[in-house]
Amino acid sequence: MKQFRCADVVPDCTARFEAESEAGLLAQVVRHARDDHGMEHVPHDVLDAVRAHIEDVE
Ligand SMILES: [Zn+2]
Repeated sequence: MKQFRCADVVPDCTARFEAESEAGLLAQVVRHARDDHGMEHVPHDVLDAVRAHIEDVE
């Protein structure tokens, strides 16, 4: 499983995501960014920051 904590990119956010693949995880993060952070389009540098903080979990 892959895991990402939004707080690693947006310090005040408590959202946490898990998915089988990085693509599945990024899809959740993009939806969250749009719905909860008002990002209609997630900039490439933000996506790079997200990828840099994805962790493997059991
Ligand atoms: Zn967030």
